[in-house]
Amino acid sequence: MPVIEVRNLTKVYTVGEIKVHALRGVSLSVEPGEFVAVTGPSGSGKSTFMHIAGCLDRPTGGEYILDGKDVSKTSKDDLARVRNQKIGFVFQGFNLLSRTTALDNVELPLLYMTKNGSSKLRTKDRHKRAMAVLEAVNLANRCHHFPNQLSGGQQQRVAIARALINEPSILLADEPTGNLDTRTSIEVMGIFQRLNRERGITVLLITHEMDIAEYGTRLIRFRDGRVVADQKVLHRRNADEELAALPPPEPDQIIAPAEPAEAVHH
Ligand code: ADP
Repeated sequence: MPVIEVRNLTKVYTVGEIKVHALRGVSLSVEPGEFVAVTGPSGSGKSTFMHIAGCLDRPTGGEYILDGKDVSKTSKDDLARVRNQKIGFVFQGFNLLSRTTALDNVELPLLYMTKNGSSKLRTKDRHKRAMAVLEAVNLANRCHHFPNQLSGGQQQRVAIARALINEPSILLADEPTGNLDTRTSIEVMGIFQRLNRERGITVLLITHEMDIAEYGTRLIRFRDGRVVADQKVLHRRNADEELAALPPPEPDQIIAPAEPAEAVHH
């Protein structure tokens, strides 16, 4: 059974008198464990598609079957519940709270969940789950650091850990390497490849960079609100192998600033 199946999906934004047709009939399905790169020029409908796939928005027309359930007409509250259970998000700008430690950033979705009536986790159990996902991105040793004490790549790894905290079956990443240098981009793609391979998490990755798209198993290209290409990635890149072949990082690439120093706990 596909994890994501959309049929003739349309989205029309109304801006004043004008109707913007962001999606003009998109049909596709994604099987569990696929790693799909979504590409296409700016304005082609990638983000609109991802918002709908991520249950952040509903389509104007068509169907969206997520894990066998039609969610295209689900109420906003139910949609939020489905989203919290099944989907983890990673964004270009990391979206971490700046005055909050890595550990607390990662725990945040668990706090939101309790508001929705899910079983309330004890502080100790929240910490335990957050530490486990920080370990999965090799950042357990930075758990008490604040975002500005971490490099860009480390901040993105915190964001990935946060996306994993509810054990989602799907990770949606919107230009996750857009703010990162080449080496760090490969490191981050290595984490997505490992989560996809070892945990079977389905990954949907928006990128306009072809070399980043090639870390996926499948490439879908949007143009003018339609899918214009959908193909297997023939020569898939392997981030771990590429990293092993790179020279060691320059010292200044390893770690960034150290403010506010008094807040660090080792
Ligand atoms: P992409 O992610 O490929 O750049 P988008 O999905 O953001 O494409 O945009 C597709 C089209 O929909 C564009 O013409 C864009 O201007 C329009 N659009 C996107 N979001 C909105 C919105 N909230 N209101 C009005 N128009 C929008």
